Amino acid sequence: MSTKNFIQREALVCAPNYNPLPVVLSKGNGVWLWDIKGHKYLDMMSAYSAMSFGHCHPRLVKAMVQQAEKVTLTSRAFHTDQLAPFLEKACALSGFDMGLPMNTGAEAVETALKIARRWGYEVKGIPFDQAEIIVAANNFHGRTTTIISFSTEALYRKDFGPYTPGFKVIPFADAEALEKAITPHVCAFLVEPIQGEAGIIVPPEGWLRDIRRICTKHNILLILDEVQSGLGRTGKMFAFQHENIRPDMLLLGKGLGGGILPISLVLGRRDVLSLMTPGSHGSTFGGNPLACAIAHEALCLLEEEHLDQHSAELGTYMLERLRRIRSPLIKEVRGKGLWAGVEFSPEAISAREVCEKLLLKGVLSKETHSTVVRFAPPLIITKAELDFGLEALEAVVKEME
Ligand SMILES: *Cc1c(COP(=O)(O)O)cnc(C)c1O
Repeated sequence: MSTKNFIQREALVCAPNYNPLPVVLSKGNGVWLWDIKGHKYLDMMSAYSAMSFGHCHPRLVKAMVQQAEKVTLTSRAFHTDQLAPFLEKACALSGFDMGLPMNTGAEAVETALKIARRWGYEVKGIPFDQAEIIVAANNFHGRTTTIISFSTEALYRKDFGPYTPGFKVIPFADAEALEKAITPHVCAFLVEPIQGEAGIIVPPEGWLRDIRRICTKHNILLILDEVQSGLGRTGKMFAFQHENIRPDMLLLGKGLGGGILPISLVLGRRDVLSLMTPGSHGSTFGGNPLACAIAHEALCLLEEEHLDQHSAELGTYMLERLRRIRSPLIKEVRGKGLWAGVEFSPEAISAREVCEKLLLKGVLSKETHSTVVRFAPPLIITKAELDFGLEALEAVVKEME
């Protein structure tokens, strides 16, 4: 079967809500992927940062197979021997008391919004049905109807209304705007510590501490969406640790499932998460033993192999080297840890073209919006592997100048 054949067949039967690069992948190992023709590619995008441990990590595959042969799904109508050990590990690693497991990142966000509203009514005493949640412009928190209701990206919203009310948008990384937007009806501020899909936007130093202080002062919950930034991606286990703060709720997803199964988590204090009473929320697959076993092993792996430190060290090297590429095509390089966005000059070149050229050189990445190419390799990448990817980018930039 040819590449063209798979692409054409997919186009006929799959709704066109993505615009993939023209490569048909069939195998992965570590930081490498292979297409159906046997061509090898370096994965510099890691499924939007979800593939932190690389493809088919032997320890994760082993954990999956072992659990798959025992029990995979019972629903939470019953207890399993996997849920408590996994949540104990997640709580120990993050310093929170409790977690609520779901499947996708968007579901973790939805769950946190519900908890925040309930906290607003039952604890803060906001009048019924009037709770408000503040969010940042250019946010990305997923694709459900409620979440796109407070997106500022027209592409994500077009023709999907009517939208869910109760959200207020302020500029990102603007502590003053947060303080101004707070009214007695506000129950929470939901924000990414570094905006991922917006183009890897890193806020100025001090902003996290400022929003923590403001949220505490006005008695509103600080919810950090670390679905993408968490679990070592930015060079710390969690991005909030860069400023030694602690959110009231922390949202994890993506890499949590080791790139094998979707699993997401809302972590928080006991007094907040205890507001979720039986029947108030749930998910058939949420907290299933197969995903819990894999996620537990993923967290152990992250800790034992110090992947956060590795991400910090190699990330510094990656960012330095990206910033050294002096080219009129490049407007800016941003990032933290093994997570970088290279913004290209839109007049000169589209980010999509860069990704297409990188593909020809055996490097996979994906544009975010039309101007930014992201580099978010698996955290297990070695310096030599990273060099291969960076050299490819340097060559592409040189060719296109
Ligand atoms: C990807 C992402 C989500 C949504 O996760 P899904 O698993 O795709 O639903 C939410 N928040 C952030 C910050 C993300 O990057």
